[in-house]
Formats: sequence, structure tokens, C-alpha cells
Amino acid sequence: MLLAIAATASWAAYLWSERNGYERLDDTAARQLDLYAALLENELGKQAYLPALIELDHDIEGLFAAPSRAGARDAANRKLAKVAVSSGALATFVTDDTGLVLAASDWYWPDSMVGKNVSKRPYFVDAMNGNEASLFAPNLERGASEYCFARPVTRGRRIVAVIVACSGLEPMEATWSASAFRADSEKPLVVDENGVVIISSVPEWKFRTMSPLAGRDRDRLMQSGLYPKRAGEPLGIKLERELPHGARLVSLRRTPDEPAGSKVVHERPVARFGWRLLILSDADEVWRSARYAAWGAGALTAAAGLLLAYMLQRRRVIAQKLATRAALQRANDELERKVEERTAQLQTTNVELLHEVAERRHAEDVLRQAQEKLVQAGKLALLGQMSAGISHEIGQPLTALRALSENARLLLERGLTNDVAENLASISDVAERMGRINAQLKSFARKAPGEHSRVSVSHAIANACLLLQARLKSEDVHVQVDASDALMAHCDGIRLEQVLVNLMVNAIDAMSAQADKRLSVAAQASNDRIVVRVTDNGPGIPAALRERLFEPFFTTKPVGEGLGLGLVISANIVVEFGGALRAVEAQQGAAFEFEVPQAQGEMHV
Ligand code: ADP
Repeated sequence: MLLAIAATASWAAYLWSERNGYERLDDTAARQLDLYAALLENELGKQAYLPALIELDHDIEGLFAAPSRAGARDAANRKLAKVAVSSGALATFVTDDTGLVLAASDWYWPDSMVGKNVSKRPYFVDAMNGNEASLFAPNLERGASEYCFARPVTRGRRIVAVIVACSGLEPMEATWSASAFRADSEKPLVVDENGVVIISSVPEWKFRTMSPLAGRDRDRLMQSGLYPKRAGEPLGIKLERELPHGARLVSLRRTPDEPAGSKVVHERPVARFGWRLLILSDADEVWRSARYAAWGAGALTAAAGLLLAYMLQRRRVIAQKLATRAALQRANDELERKVEERTAQLQTTNVELLHEVAERRHAEDVLRQAQEKLVQAGKLALLGQMSAGISHEIGQPLTALRALSENARLLLERGLTNDVAENLASISDVAERMGRINAQLKSFARKAPGEHSRVSVSHAIANACLLLQARLKSEDVHVQVDASDALMAHCDGIRLEQVLVNLMVNAIDAMSAQADKRLSVAAQASNDRIVVRVTDNGPGIPAALRERLFEPFFTTKPVGEGLGLGLVISANIVVEFGGALRAVEAQQGAAFEFEVPQAQGEMHV
């Protein structure tokens, strides 16, 4: 695209510059043609008046009067020489009516015109016909051409003589060649009425025709004797095309003096002589500047095009950058909006979560309080159930105490101090029993759970065994403990021992009637808990009794031995630990099992 525009601009500049060049050439050529024509007319016109002037001279008159007198001839010769010198004419001479030269300006030269006959010369023939001739004439002796003006001299009606003044064209050619008006690239030519070049700054071109002649015309021209050499040979000019304002573009064949090339021909007539004045200018000049203009215009257009393309590209890039920035800004805005939205949502969610957490906490508090209340209510309910048993349990020792103290008083009155002592010992037993019942009830009713800490299970088992040591020994019970020292529970150690003691006492009680008594206490970790199992080889628990085991005051033991609170209290303690106490199937005898949580950081599998 850019190339096409540059090529078009280049072509337009070429045409424009070419046209301008031709116009410039037209101007220059017109001026120079005028100048050369003026020079030519002036130079030749100077000689035109000479024959008439010579006719008036009395020495010449004297010659006419006595042509054969030597003195008259001599005087005429001298006068003609003088005139020639002062006028710059090449030659002046006078002939008689036969063409014989009577006197001549070059009379002193060996090959003078004097005595020669010029009757064949066209200007003589013309003059003898009564005309004032001005004709081109060869000077075969000099190998040059001259222009001659001939004037008939009449006496009466008869032509008696012809006066001729000839002028050479070479000086003018030399003047033209040296003329400051002539540029190197311009060649002035003068072509006569026969189409023959008679004046030229290029010697090679002289006496040649501008265009080829037909054979007959050429022969006639060569035989005319007017031209010294090559007359009729064409110059080898070929018309290329007509230019505006009458100019022509021609191509010139190469000659020894002149390289081949294209020339622009301008011409004008030189009316006085019937000649044509031509100027051949170098067309290469015009084309060279046209080429420069074309290159310049092409380069300028290309540069402007490139600049424009660069600007457009730059604009496009800037527009793209702006668009990208705008898109980024939009994306950023959108992101910020989304972030704000999301933040607002998160804040709302956060507030809701805080609310929820607070509500949960509140619910947990309420639940815990409710649980505590429930536990307490359960305990109170148990106490309600227990109250009948308690009144029975307490009532009985109270009655015994009353009876024993009454007995003691009676025995004291009788002075039976030994019996009193026995009675007091019984009172002490009963009081101790009541104290035990009281202690157990207090423990059961305690509202707050005990302090939980890291407790060694094997240690708790050993303690329980120690507490029961006397009984175990007296009743010959074989105890087997299976618990790793590493097992650590998270609970209240005293209460764990209490549970173990209760279960072991029940086992010892159950095995009281048999000889082989075996009691086993085993503990092992399971997940985050420790499972403790107390097993005996006693009679076991009848299925019918299983459901009632954890009822308060349910006992199968004789009155005074069992309270029916041991399992209930133990189950309650285990629940506080977060586990459960249950009777499990055993191959022989009875087995009770419960869980306590394992202390954190000491997990054992
Ligand atoms: P108490 O020991 O005062 O009777 P408990 O609540 O400790 O009260 O026990 C309730 C009853 O459960 C016992 O009377 C007994 O019948 C039964 N029992 C408990 N442990 C065993 C056991 N190891 N073997 C057989 N029966 C048992």
C-alpha cells in the first residue's frame, strides 16, 4: 500500500518535474534563439550593404569605364581590399558580365580571385537575372562555405558587371562556440532552405541534412556545388515525440564528436535568409532532475508514510494500553467490590457466629445447670426412696441404743460393772454403725464432684487391697491384680478407691460360704479410657436379681450386714467420672466392670 502510494507520488513528481524541465528549456531556448538570430542577422546584414556601397566608389566606376586598363584595375583592387579589411568581409570582388573577376580584395594572394570566372556560381546567375542575390556559396579552395551578396551593375538597360561581397561563417561559429550564452548541453544549429546544416558548433554535423532525403533530391543537392562535403548525408536524428510549445524530442545517433542521446529541439525561422535556427538541448538534464524529483518525492512520501504508520501504530498501542489499563481498573474495581461484599458477608457471618457461639455457650450453661439440677434431683429422688430405708436403718440402732443404755443404767444400779462395760461396747458398735451409714449418705449427697487429677490405677487397686488386707487375710481370699503401673486415670483417686473397695467387699461377701476364694482386679486401656473389671468365683448373681442391683437399699445380705447402698453409690461415682458401672457376664461367679477416662498425654493401648 505504502509502496503503491510512494510509487504514485514518485511518478507524479517525475511527470511534474519533466514538464517543468521542458518549460524551463522552452524559456531558455526561446531567449537563446532570439539572441542567436539577432547575432546572425546582424553579422550577415553588415555585409549586405557592401555591394551597393562599392558600386558608388569612383575607383570602381573607373574600372567599369575602362575594365582593361591596368591602372583602373589596380585602383579597384586596392579599394576592394580596403573595404574588405574595414568591413570584416571575407572577400569582395567585381566581375564583368561574363563572370570574369576583374578586381578582387585578395588580389595580392597567389591564388587570388582575379582572373577567375564565377559565371557558374548561383549568386552570379541570380545577379545576371537582375536580382540582388544573397546566397550561400562554397569556397572550394578553402574547403569552407561563404555567404555572398551579389549586386548587378546596370548601365542603361544592360547589366555590365556584378559586385560580390562574401562573408565567412566560421568566425560566427567561433563566436557562438565561445559565447557565454551557450551552455555545454545546448547546441545551436543553422539549417538553410535546403535542409542542410550550415552553421554548427559540432564540426561533424556541418553540411549534413537534418532528415534523410530521397535519392533524387540528394543527388541534386550534391551536384549543386554549393556545399563542400557530405551534403545530403542525414544527421541521424530520429523524432521521438512532439513536445508542447512546438518543441520536439529527438534521439541522436552517436557521432565521433557527440555521444548518442536524446535532445530537445527548439527552432525559429531566420526570415531574412529563409533559414532555420535550431537549438538542441540535452534532454538528460530534464530527466535527471525529474529522476531526482521522483526519488525525492518517493523518499519523502515513503518517509511521511512510515511516520504516519508509526504514529498510527503508536496511537493504536496507546489506545490498547489505555484499554488494558481501563480493563484492569474495571477488574480491580470489580475485585474490590467483591472483596467488600465478601468482607461484609463475612462480617455478618462473623457476627452471626459470635451470636451462635454465645447462644451455644448459653445453651451449654443452661444444659449443664439442667444436668446438675437433674443429677441433684435424681439424688434427691433417691434420697426420697432411701428415706424409708434410712428411717429403718437409723430407727433400729436407735431402738438398740435406747435398750442398751437402759440396760446399762439398770446394770449400774445393780453394780454389775462388767456387764455395763459390755453394754457400753455394744453401744459403741451401734454408734459406729450409725456413723458409717451417715458417712455413706453424706458422700452420696455431696453435690460438687471431687477434684480430678492424674491417678495411678494400680496404685488405687493396691490401696483398696491394703484397706481390705485384714479381711482378705482372715477369710483367706486369693487376690490377683492385673494392672500396669503406667495406667493413669483422670479422676478423684479417693472415690476410685471407694468404688474398688465396694466391689471387692461385695465379692468377698459373696464368696464367704466357699473354701476356694479367688478375687481378680484387672485394668486395661481401651482408646482414651481405662476399663477396670472386678471378678470373683462366688455364686454369681441370679438373673432375677440383676435388674435390681442398682436400686438403693437392695440387698440380699442379712439385716445388719448389708445396706444396699454400695452399688448405687459406686455407680453414681463412676457416672461422675464420665463412665458407667455394670454387671457383666462371667464364666464363674460375678463380674463388675466400669470405665474411667485416661489422663491426657498418657495414652496406652
Ligand atoms: P449390700 O452389700 O449392702 O447388700 P450392695 O448394693 O453393695 O449392698 O449390694 C446389693 C446386693 O447385690 C447384695 O446384697 C448382693 O445380693 C448382690 N451382690 C453384690 N455383689 C455381689 C457379688 N459379687 N456376688 C453376688 N451377689 C452380689
